[in-house]
Amino acid sequence: MLVVMNHNATEEDINRVASYLVSKGFEARVSHGEVRVVVHAIGVKEVDQRDFELLPGVLEVIRVTTAYKLAARVSQGQDTVIDVNGVKFGDKYCGLIAGPCTIESYEQTDEIADALSKSNVKILRGGAFKPRTSPYAFQGLGEEGLKIIRSVADKYGMGVISEIMEPSQIDMFMDYVDILQIGARNMQNFNLLKELGKINKPVVLKRGLSATYEEWLMSAEYIMSGGNNQVILCERGIRTFEKYTRNTLDLTAIPVIKKLSHLPIIIDPSHATGLRDKVSPMSLAAVAAGCDGLIIEVHSNPDCAICDGAQSLYPEQYDELYQKIKQIAPIVGKVVL
Ligand code: PEP
Ligand code: MN
Repeated sequence: MLVVMNHNATEEDINRVASYLVSKGFEARVSHGEVRVVVHAIGVKEVDQRDFELLPGVLEVIRVTTAYKLAARVSQGQDTVIDVNGVKFGDKYCGLIAGPCTIESYEQTDEIADALSKSNVKILRGGAFKPRTSPYAFQGLGEEGLKIIRSVADKYGMGVISEIMEPSQIDMFMDYVDILQIGARNMQNFNLLKELGKINKPVVLKRGLSATYEEWLMSAEYIMSGGNNQVILCERGIRTFEKYTRNTLDLTAIPVIKKLSHLPIIIDPSHATGLRDKVSPMSLAAVAAGCDGLIIEVHSNPDCAICDGAQSLYPEQYDELYQKIKQIAPIVGKVVL
């Protein structure tokens, strides 16, 4: 951290900053430039920058290292690759996940998985515990839903991803799923993040509705600091003033996250756009931008879906999209698995 002093800062101001840094456990080194004095804080400590910004004579405080350490690109030489059921996410791999928004019944799940298996889908998505805006909306089938998705996935040789809502559900989820999904609304459920840091299964961490890249990476850091390095980031659209689409898909997240972190980043074009006819174009754009995977809602009968039918592709549309993804991916040096 660098504390840049005002051009008219006094010796007393500079000494005050230096001793305050020392009192916080840093070593303080003062350097006199032609115009300004800069006090360098040496050491790794978590401090509130504002405490320094408020001191007399201080112009600004500049952070030189990131608050996230394990998630940071500099912490490891290579991109993290996460392998689930032979599907890889990260580095040169682009993994695909598809399935309904929510598990409705065995028959519904089986019909969708049957269709998706013909398009080479190896990881099936489906919520059993749904974070709904309205308490009166369908909340998911609960454990029964997890049983259904597991047995259907086993029938087709698929892996399972499903959303977990609270720490007390972890033991249950460990029995049924291969990837635990943290929904956008829970990105900063720090108790949940900490507990998921203790497990040995991959976690998909969705970006919060209004989360900055740094906040998102700090949430990944919570999981990783507990010992679980298998974190996949998922951009699912953010809140903006635009109401035409459900959210605004921030595709810039792909190159930004790749610069800041070694973790894989996948895209959820379904929740990002909220409109079926926007899902394929944005999926292709995401692949072209170098995403490490996609998670896409697909339903065999979207008009009758309990949840998110309007943003769910028909299986035929998914297949068409899959064929195009396979053409685009190699152009950007990606292998689709
Ligand atoms: C979901 O994937 O089913 C979901 C609820 O997504 P999000 O948390 O991104 O809204
Ligand atoms: Mn959904």
